Amino acid sequence: VLRVAGVWKHYHRHSVLRGVDLSVDSHEVVCLIGASGSGKSTLLRCVNLLETVDDGTIHLDGDEITDVRTDPDQVRKRIGMVFQSYNLFPSMTVLGNITLAPRKAHGVARAQAEEEARELLARFGLADKAGAYPDRLSGGQQQRVAIIRALATRPRLLLLDEVTSALDPALVGEVLDIIRELKTTGMTMVLATHEMGLARDIADKVCFLDGGVLLEQGPPERFFSEPCEPRTREFLRRVL
Ligand code: ATP
Ligand code: MG
Repeated sequence: VLRVAGVWKHYHRHSVLRGVDLSVDSHEVVCLIGASGSGKSTLLRCVNLLETVDDGTIHLDGDEITDVRTDPDQVRKRIGMVFQSYNLFPSMTVLGNITLAPRKAHGVARAQAEEEARELLARFGLADKAGAYPDRLSGGQQQRVAIIRALATRPRLLLLDEVTSALDPALVGEVLDIIRELKTTGMTMVLATHEMGLARDIADKVCFLDGGVLLEQGPPERFFSEPCEPRTREFLRRVL
């Protein structure tokens, strides 16, 4: 689904991504881990074309999306992204938030968009919240709505950036349940996370970013028990 090859990103003279290579196959769940500032969010933002890359290429389903002729809006229609802060539109109901992109960007008729939104809400235990405004929901509920909103356009790939880190610990579980449920349905996902438990639990592949270098990657069983690189071992010693 996704091929990131030799991607560099600089801010001023500071290199934030240094030749990152990453492949994500269909139905695969990849967790990006690494210290604060290691470039996890920047990498996700490059994939969603919220940032331009300075060197290297990114392919989505065989199309080079880093090509200058690519229309970023067309790419974002195929990718769902959820951030740490849920960014729901406060003046719209839950249903309004979820149906906005399908209706406006994908041309889905209102009735169909609403029907699909209600199905998603029911699937994730939020059926009774369709008419509620975001400020009436808990943080965990808002984040679940944000994930549902990203799913409503049926993305090929879902990017999740620290989706649990702004939440009260008691509310983290319900959001993690959604992510696990999505994995069982075969959703292709890339998650940036500080939660090693989640990475160990859900990832098919764990990737460690260190100062903008994708230093080491592997299946969680191997990655957490026998990391190869001294820098990975040092990082895991600090966070585990
Ligand atoms: P965290 O775990 O804290 O979310 P991260 O791994 O997601 O960290 P990034 O947000 O990708 O890290 O940031 C990587 C580096 O890029 C940091 O040094 C940051 O200061 C820098 N950076 C990010 N965005 C910008 C920007 N718009 N302008 C300048 N520097 C930036
Ligand atoms: Mg980040």
